[in-house]
Amino acid sequence: SSGTDRELRAPICCILGHVDAGKTKLLDCIRHSNVQGVEAGGITQQIGATYLPVENIRERTSLKAEATIKVPGLLVIDTPGHQSFSNMRLRGSSLCDVAVVVVDITQGLEKQTIESIGLLKRRDVKFVVALNKVDRLYGWKTCPNAPIVKALKSQSDDVQREFKWRVAEVVTQLKECGFNSALYYENKKIKEVVNIVPTSAVSGEGIPDLLLLLVRWVPEIMMEKLTYADTVECTVLEVNEVKEFGTTIDVVLINGALKKGDQIVVCTKQGPVTTSIRHLLTPYPLKELRAKGSYERHEELKAAQGVKIVARGVQHALAGTSLIVVKPGHDLEQAEAAAMQEIDNAINPSNENERGKNEDETEVKEISRIQTCKEGVYVQASSLGTLEAIIEHLKTLSLDVPVSGCNLGPVHKQDVMKATAMLKRKEEYAAILAFDVKVMPEAFELAVESGVKIFVADTVYKLVDSFTDHIKKLKK
Ligand code: GDP
Ligand code: MG
Repeated sequence: SSGTDRELRAPICCILGHVDAGKTKLLDCIRHSNVQGVEAGGITQQIGATYLPVENIRERTSLKAEATIKVPGLLVIDTPGHQSFSNMRLRGSSLCDVAVVVVDITQGLEKQTIESIGLLKRRDVKFVVALNKVDRLYGWKTCPNAPIVKALKSQSDDVQREFKWRVAEVVTQLKECGFNSALYYENKKIKEVVNIVPTSAVSGEGIPDLLLLLVRWVPEIMMEKLTYADTVECTVLEVNEVKEFGTTIDVVLINGALKKGDQIVVCTKQGPVTTSIRHLLTPYPLKELRAKGSYERHEELKAAQGVKIVARGVQHALAGTSLIVVKPGHDLEQAEAAAMQEIDNAINPSNENERGKNEDETEVKEISRIQTCKEGVYVQASSLGTLEAIIEHLKTLSLDVPVSGCNLGPVHKQDVMKATAMLKRKEEYAAILAFDVKVMPEAFELAVESGVKIFVADTVYKLVDSFTDHIKKLKK
């Protein structure tokens, strides 16, 4: 058949869904294979992503060695709420080939689920639904890491009945979003009908199914897109300081190869910066981390991968923009012009006439629509949905914590600057509540110097609790 001699790259997958549906837990479950009786089989924690080689997926699924899988692995992006994703949306392109939309089976589709599905639909990004928390069905008998059909067979009639009607409910809700869907093992039209994979991110049922579906179904439906090409396609996720190397940029290499010494152009607010790759790095596999230092150096890396690049002059690179490689003999001016175009689009999204400008304007508008007061805390989150959830939660507290400002993405110095305004107005509110976002080192330093408190937590409740505890202490 066609395409058997093609070289395919790993599909890039991101995980979306409503807050608390189990995105983080699912990622953990995929990543740590503290799966009983299964060796970790070469999973590597990459920059902003986790790479699962196909052998690992085979091991977990007890799939026969000869069963064909056409891709070398799966690259799962760790931080779907990352700022670069908002920029990505602004540019109307998509870093991911495919998405997993996590739905809590006991809740069905929720607000953010519907938002995510809407976005994927507009972008024409294919997705599967992980119908998570099946272990929460009343009376569920745990079958750790079992394929879902096997796990279902061990359940009582009552559990199976509840499972069926909950699935039917979700199918109806997806229909209302404009998608036909079916349990993946009953789905006969995998190109048109959305696959539903029941999972438990806690006990692991259905996780083998999800991984296997991704590495087998994705190449079926997007052979062209996954065909390895020499042309470099590479997106900047973030800029980082690393002790032994200085300024580095973390990128996702979507296609092509990067070589040490390559001339590159990155986008900054000040314009295109032309420089060259001094080091190409990836973290060592976890077990080797201590022995060899933090990063492994490479001469060349091929897509798809998460990569850390050391280069001069990249400290202002904009997250979500492209990194352009200028091969010897190629036109540098042309590359710089392309970078300039991206910079324009990143800075003035309204100039852009691409598809997708609308919802991002909506996102900006929606942020500015969030009610803020002159005196209040500063809230920062990875997505609009979580931001709203936190603000909503703050309002319902007996303390009634007002919000003076908010932002999406990593906490930067500017955010801390804004929060410092409260030091004079109302000191107890000189705080940043940061959910599921990184705090940049300069931001952290400024916070320490100025006396702004930064609270970081991985659940909305923990975040709000640690802040209210702090307020209570102050009041005493
Ligand atoms: P996120 O907001 O989508 O990232 O959700 P989390 O991964 O943080 O999960 C929210 C809560 O649900 C946590 O307390 C998890 O332990 C729990 N959780 C997630 N997945 C499952 C699951 O499959 N089964 C059960 N019982 N709990 C889960
Ligand atoms: Mg999470």
